[in-house]
Amino acid sequence: MLQIKSLSKSFGNQRVISDMDFTIKKGEVVAVIGPSGSGKSTFLKTINQLVKPDFGIMHLNDKEYDMAKIKESEATDLRKKIGMVFQNFGLFSHLDVLGNITLGLEKVHGFKKEAAISREKELIEVVGLSGKEQSFPNQLSGGQQQRVGIARAMASNPDLILFDEPTSALDPELVGEVLSVIKTLAKAGNTMIIVTHEMKFAKETADKIVFMENGEIIMEDSPEVLFSEKAPERIMTTRKTGG
Ligand code: ATP
Ligand code: MG
Repeated sequence: MLQIKSLSKSFGNQRVISDMDFTIKKGEVVAVIGPSGSGKSTFLKTINQLVKPDFGIMHLNDKEYDMAKIKESEATDLRKKIGMVFQNFGLFSHLDVLGNITLGLEKVHGFKKEAAISREKELIEVVGLSGKEQSFPNQLSGGQQQRVGIARAMASNPDLILFDEPTSALDPELVGEVLSVIKTLAKAGNTMIIVTHEMKFAKETADKIVFMENGEIIMEDSPEVLFSEKAPERIMTTRKTGG
């Protein structure tokens, strides 16, 4: 469903993504792991054009995109098909839970108000926030805020959902509730790319683990293989330190 070829990105002289190829099939969950600074966030951001790469050819479903040359109108269109969940939630503080979820639906996706409200109710259920519809972000725990973030990313029923370390800003006791929502979405057949340091979660949830280092994928395989004792030493180290 998504195939990327020869993805490259430099910031100034620093090459952050280096001729990288990546594929994910429909319904698959891919976990991306790797040391800090290896280009994981940059990689995700190029997929929905939050960062414009220097080069890259992307196929999303049946459409081909020259990633370095996408026009803003086409990028907006692409972002409708690709939801993203950020580390720091990225919610609008002046909007309540419903507002945060619907804003995108009405403004970006052109839903009618009634359709947006019905989609919203469904999402509130999925992320377990019934009763909190009128709460503002500062009245919610970090875990609840991130669940709003997930509902918002899901709102337009995207083909693909990107998660950039969705639990790393959370207190340890709140991590579980967010991972459990993500697991539910995985089981429901959503196609997802998840950058995470939660190795147990990656092992349990992902169909494929991709290990990045210096802007390249240096190993990709099933969790069984990648988490086996045969994995290269530096992957073992990353797993132990969580990053
Ligand atoms: P972490 O695990 O710490 O989140 P990461 O793998 O997500 O790391 P990136 O955020 O993709 O790494 O950053 C990769 C490299 O690119 C880093 O050296 C970073 O400093 C650099 N970088 C990222 N964004 C920019 C930017 N907008 N301008 C300049 N350099 C950037
Ligand atoms: Mg990052």
